Amino acid sequence: MTIRLEPGARLVVATHNPGKARELAAMLENRFELVTAGDLGLAEPEETETTFVGNALLKARAAARASGLAAIADDSGLSVAALDGAPGVYSARWAGPEKDFALAMRKVEERLEAAESDDRAAWFTCALAVAWPDEGPMLVVEGRVDGTLTFPGRGTRGFGYDPIFVPEGHAQTFGQMDPAAKDAMSHRARAFEKLKAALF
Ligand code: IMP
Repeated sequence: MTIRLEPGARLVVATHNPGKARELAAMLENRFELVTAGDLGLAEPEETETTFVGNALLKARAAARASGLAAIADDSGLSVAALDGAPGVYSARWAGPEKDFALAMRKVEERLEAAESDDRAAWFTCALAVAWPDEGPMLVVEGRVDGTLTFPGRGTRGFGYDPIFVPEGHAQTFGQMDPAAKDAMSHRARAFEKLKAALF
């Protein structure tokens, strides 16, 4: 596959979240001139797909079409083995309109209790997609980190489901870990390594 993304190219980050845009810029080592979908006033498409890859592609394609520029999008979340992969692509939605992750983590715990399973295996996934405005082939990669869930959650660092997730081979949760240690092993970092290998 031919990847057409020259250093310095303008690239739309398909997010309205400035924090996410900054994180993406840093991970792309500032090789591109980034603008966000929010800056361009693009509408946020509804995440109607049932997979991380599907939603990342949908968001990248919508931003590329609407802007006429290459676009990058991500989709990520937590999957729990005993819950058949839930909350998965609904990870953000489980926190409700108030983005209350204490509520979302309680929901995970309650569902696990209801499932009467001792299996605490879980994983985070991050899909990253790049689309071009001419509808040609797109690029998509996925990174994953495996671990186990622990209740009650521990730690105040990180975000989202970090306090209940203990990555494989470690004793601390993502919520307790030094952010640099999390960033070195996270699903997002693993997806970026693959994306960089394909793009650079
Ligand atoms: P997205 O922004 O639509 O991709 O939603 C991702 C959701 O998945 C976030 O709101 C978090 O709840 C969860 N999530 C993704 N990555 C992480 C992580 O590294 N730690 C904790 N939660 C995460």
